Amino acid sequence: HRSKEIMAARDIERTLDRLACQILEQITDHESIALVGIQRRGADLACRLCGLLSERTRRKIPCGELDINLYRDDWTSSTATPNINATRIDFSVEDKTIILIDDVLFTGRTIRCALEAILDFGRPEAVKLLVLVDRGHRELPIQADFIGKSVPTERDQQINVFLQERDGKDQVVLS
Ligand code: 5GP
Ligand code: MG
Repeated sequence: HRSKEIMAARDIERTLDRLACQILEQITDHESIALVGIQRRGADLACRLCGLLSERTRRKIPCGELDINLYRDDWTSSTATPNINATRIDFSVEDKTIILIDDVLFTGRTIRCALEAILDFGRPEAVKLLVLVDRGHRELPIQADFIGKSVPTERDQQINVFLQERDGKDQVVLS
């Protein structure tokens, strides 16, 4: 079983720095920026980006999270049912430019479900999508606005995202 390192710790650090810069470049009204991470590692990434963005803008960027599970037998099955377990968005989404954040973008079904959950909270100005890894194989017309790295994969491959706060190291591996 062969594994290949896609991103080392320093790559992840630089990538998050770049993504923070791109966000501030593209969303010029910094006061409107709010983040929503998808559990679990998307929420970890949202926390980190919140730190970077808050530092750069010298304001507290709001950050929430959605807990969405996709029930399917394995990663390769396309018959999955997204399920919202919990939402923690304790700021008003009205007129915000919300950046939805996940670690890996695959079929897009989780994002579709996340969009519905966010729109239940109100009417944001816009919703943008940020992912650390885009592994392809979309089944819905969903694309990311901010991409850490595009990694062509086979359907039956898997991207393993390790993050310091959860896994004790920063690394992205294709296996
Ligand atoms: P979707 O198919 O809805 O785009 O992805 C389903 C969920 O599983 C998302 O939260 C996505 O981040 C995660 N996911 C899909 N493929 C992979 C993968 O290869 N590795 C990891 N770590 N997560 C994945
Ligand atoms: Mg995920």
